[in-house]
Amino acid sequence: MSRFGGRVREYPSVSIDRFDRDNLRARAYFLSHCHKDHMKGLRAPALKRRLEGSLKVKLYCSPVTKELLLTSWKYKFWENHIVALEVETPTQISLEDETSGEKEDIEVTLLPAGHCPGSVMFLFEGANGTVLYTGDFRLAKGEAARMELLHSGTRVKDIQSVYLDTTFCDPKFYHIPSRINLARQCHFALPNHSTLEECLSGILELVRSWTSLTRYHVVWLNCKAAYGYEYLFVNLSEELGIKVHVNKLDMFRNMPEILYHVTTDRHTQIHACRHPRDDDCFRGNRLPCGMTCQNGNPLHIISIKPSTMWFGERIKKTNVIVRTGESTYRACFSFHSSYSELKDFLSYIRPVNVYPNVLPVGGGEDKVMEILKPLCRSYRRNMEPRYKPLGTLKRVHKRDLSDTGKGSVGASVP
Ligand SMILES: [Zn+2]
Ligand SMILES: [Zn+2]
Repeated sequence: MSRFGGRVREYPSVSIDRFDRDNLRARAYFLSHCHKDHMKGLRAPALKRRLEGSLKVKLYCSPVTKELLLTSWKYKFWENHIVALEVETPTQISLEDETSGEKEDIEVTLLPAGHCPGSVMFLFEGANGTVLYTGDFRLAKGEAARMELLHSGTRVKDIQSVYLDTTFCDPKFYHIPSRINLARQCHFALPNHSTLEECLSGILELVRSWTSLTRYHVVWLNCKAAYGYEYLFVNLSEELGIKVHVNKLDMFRNMPEILYHVTTDRHTQIHACRHPRDDDCFRGNRLPCGMTCQNGNPLHIISIKPSTMWFGERIKKTNVIVRTGESTYRACFSFHSSYSELKDFLSYIRPVNVYPNVLPVGGGEDKVMEILKPLCRSYRRNMEPRYKPLGTLKRVHKRDLSDTGKGSVGASVP
C-alpha cells in the first residue's frame, strides 16, 4: 500500500500518484497505474474544480492506464485533461505556473513496470537531476540492465534518487517465484524469458489436472478485484485453451491480447467472476456467477486464492501451492518485486538516494533503509573513513553503524 505523498524532492511542482492536499497545486499530474492506493483524490470535487478553471493542467499516463481509467464514469471528467504518453518514448513537458507564468522544462520517459496492465515507472530528467519513480513494480533480476532508456551509451544514467516500491523489502520475501513468461504476448508485456517459472506452473498444473478430470470439474480463481491478475488469466488460457469467465469485458475492449482470453460466457471451466458474497457461494458449491451444474450434471469446484503476503509469513519453506481445505488452495502470486529482485534492481541503478514508497508489513522505515542504503552511492562515500589509520578505527566503526542504522534515516527521509 503506497504511502508516497505525491511529490519528489527534485521536482516538487509535479504530483505523482497522489491528488489531494498540497498536490492540488501541482503544475502536472502523473499516474503510474490504476490501483486505488495510487489514485487518492483523483476524483475529488476539489481537483475537479481545479480542472474546470484550468486549460493547462494535464494528467500523464500510459495509453492503457488512460483506457482503464476512462472505463469508469467517475473519472470521465478527466477525459480532456489526460495525455497518454507512449511507453519508452522520452517526452519533453513544459511545466507552467498558471498564475506567475513561470516555466520549467522536464523530460519524462515511461518504462514498463510489470505490475498490472498499463503500469509504468516514470523517469524524470531535468535541471535538478535524474529521478526514477517506480510506482508499483515487478521486475525480474537483470531486467533493469535491459532497459535501454535507463542507460546513456553503455552506462547506467546518473540517477539522483529512486522512489521505490518496497512492498517486499524484507528478507522473508527473499524469493517469490517469478512470474515472467506470463505476459509474453501482451502489450503490457514483461520481457520474454524462456523458463516457465515456478509459481505460474504450479497454478497451471493444478488447474490442468483438475479441469482434465471431466468437463464438470471447474476452477474458481478467487482474485480480489484489481488489475494485475490478467497476467494469470492470459497464461492459463494460452496454455490450456480455456477462457476465463469474468464479470465484465468493457475495460479490455482495446486490449486484444487480454480480451481474447476472457469471456462472459459462464460455460467455461475457469472462472474469475465475482459476487459480493462469493465465499458463501463457494461454500454452497456455487460459482459467484450462479452456476452450479451444467447439462444437469453438478459442477465440482475448487478455489485457488493467489496471495503473496500469506506465503511470506510461512516460517517453513512451502510449495508454491498449498491446500488449505478440502477444495480450497492458496497459490503464491505477486504483483511486486521480491526482496532479492529489489536488491538486484537497486544495486544496478546505484542512485545517490533512495526513498521507500511503501513500508513492508511488519517492517519500519529504519529496517527498510538499513537494507537499501548500502546499495546507494552516497553510502559508499560514507564508507571511506574505513581507510583511516588504525588508531581511529574504533570511532570510525561507530560512525559506520550510524549510517546503516537509525541515525541516518531521519536525515534522508523526512
Ligand atoms: Zn498497484
Ligand atoms: Zn463464473
